[in-house]
Amino acid sequence: MSYIPATLRKQVTQAARHRCGYCLRSEELMGMPMTIEHLLPEFLGGQTVEENLWLSCIRCNQFKGSQTHATNPLTGGTVKLFNPRYQKWEEHFEWSTDGTMIIGQTECGRATVIALQMNNLEIVVARRLWVSVGWWPPQD
Ligand SMILES: [Zn+2]
Repeated sequence: MSYIPATLRKQVTQAARHRCGYCLRSEELMGMPMTIEHLLPEFLGGQTVEENLWLSCIRCNQFKGSQTHATNPLTGGTVKLFNPRYQKWEEHFEWSTDGTMIIGQTECGRATVIALQMNNLEIVVARRLWVSVGWWPPQD
């Protein structure tokens, strides 16, 4: 993984509003900094430049790994993963009624939810607690 200069890290963190571009959990809720992820992985030629970086929690980053595409669960076809820098979260995902699950609204959203395991047991349990105290889902 490339060294990311502090000024670039700060720019990306501010643009992403201190939260994961995929699951939207914030540094404030996590009590720790997010990771800077390469949207196009470095080994596929992705560069360490602002346009190719976004903020991600460690879980989403780990589940994403080197994936750039995933399987559309409805058709079996291959679709590009959601790109939090260039796509709007609310156009591809929504919260379940109880606020604990991310529901994909497009083929990109549905494939990304599965590929990044965005409703894994640990995060759903955490979201349930956050909902119970009024901290979740995020309102903006
Ligand atoms: Zn995340």
